[in-house]
Amino acid sequence: MRCSSGKTSFESKELAEEALIQNHIRSNHRKGSGPQNVYECQDCGEWHFTSRPPASELFSDKDILNRMDLERRSYDWERKVK
Ligand SMILES: [Zn+2]
Repeated sequence: MRCSSGKTSFESKELAEEALIQNHIRSNHRKGSGPQNVYECQDCGEWHFTSRPPASELFSDKDILNRMDLERRSYDWERKVK
């Protein structure tokens, strides 16, 4: 479903959170910049990113931060060899 907000929408919170993680891996945002969290839209019923705080608890989860760090390194490496 298309949302009147014009934002990318995700069917579930899980999908939105995964996309949020991927977004941060690929864009290398400074701390506190870029999309901070996901929310359920009152308009379309799907999930979008928001750049407003509070930041998602994903960003204080050590396992997820480790994973982001690892994936970011392999992503940077892939870009270098291409
Ligand atoms: Zn929406």
